[in-house]
Amino acid sequence: MKVGIIGAGSVGSTTAFALIMKGVARKVVLIDANQAKAEAEASDLAHATPFAYANKVKAGTYEDLKGCEIVIVTAGANQKPGETRIDLLGRNVKIFESIIPQIAKAAPDTTLIITANPADIMTEVALKLSGFPKERVIGSGTVLDTARFRTLLGYHLGVSPQSIHANVIGEHGDSEVLVWSAGDAGTVSLDKLAEEFGKPFTPEVKAQIDDGVRNAAYKIIDGKGATFYGIAGALCRICSAISNNEYAILNVSTHHEDVEGVKNVCLSLPTVLGKRGVHNVVYPVLNDEERSKLASSAKVMKEFSDKALEMISQN
Ligand code: NAD
Repeated sequence: MKVGIIGAGSVGSTTAFALIMKGVARKVVLIDANQAKAEAEASDLAHATPFAYANKVKAGTYEDLKGCEIVIVTAGANQKPGETRIDLLGRNVKIFESIIPQIAKAAPDTTLIITANPADIMTEVALKLSGFPKERVIGSGTVLDTARFRTLLGYHLGVSPQSIHANVIGEHGDSEVLVWSAGDAGTVSLDKLAEEFGKPFTPEVKAQIDDGVRNAAYKIIDGKGATFYGIAGALCRICSAISNNEYAILNVSTHHEDVEGVKNVCLSLPTVLGKRGVHNVVYPVLNDEERSKLASSAKVMKEFSDKALEMISQN
């Protein structure tokens, strides 16, 4: 599979590394406004290929995206300590206006995967600017947040995160919804398993895990300036689900006609992914509290998406 990555910064270059070392992509094209940076990253990455697969990595131009099955968009401003993802909106809408039409022209059949923040809103912006069908415009969404949730649940229970089925849906950001009511491991609900293992989910434990998931990026950014390994793993997983036509269910962000009464909004729900991009969406069974949190998340996403779409028409 040939993959294009726009933005060869921390997220773009780490994602390229994950794709080539796992053999998910055989060709990677890196594009960055800073050409010297793209070339340097491409060279460094190419030197890892003898230890992985017969991959090709190169720095390129938009014309080089021709034939890409997937184009990942990471180009954009990233959060500074204290900034929310929503604070990046104005800057990243401008960047998308310059890059998305060029991708659409060079690779009209590609599937776009949007990861620049605020990721759900930028997915809506990319949908509008590309003119692609909604099945082929996918935000990395809460795939990463779900991994964070499973990791912390696994650590608490003493079970591999891979064996835990639990999901984060809604916004990739402050209003995301941790679905506690529907998690399980080894056929047993998470609550019951926690009781059986003598590690109950007390309100304090739940609050700690919620904080560890919801505020993970803020803490990592405070410590090292950016997050990139987790998202690179998530993007690699999404690419392999598409490339291998897996029909895997991942919590990616896509455009929905109605989420809890909010019309035309991008956010994450469990989504069946394969060669055509989105094949189906699973509307989750939630309790009343989670349903109301999902409605609030959808309202926030809708409010900011409308603002972002207005910004496009003003330019
Ligand atoms: P970074 O600053 O390291 O890299 C961004 C790159 O984009 C830079 O190399 C820059 O030169 C390039 N760029 C800027 N404008 C461009 C343009 N018009 N055309 C081409 N390239 C351009 O930032 P990063 O840490 O890699 O983060 C990138 C984005 O990903 C940010 O918006 C960040 O918030 C987001 N992010 C999202 C997630 C997620 O889960 N969705 C996780 C981490 C980071």
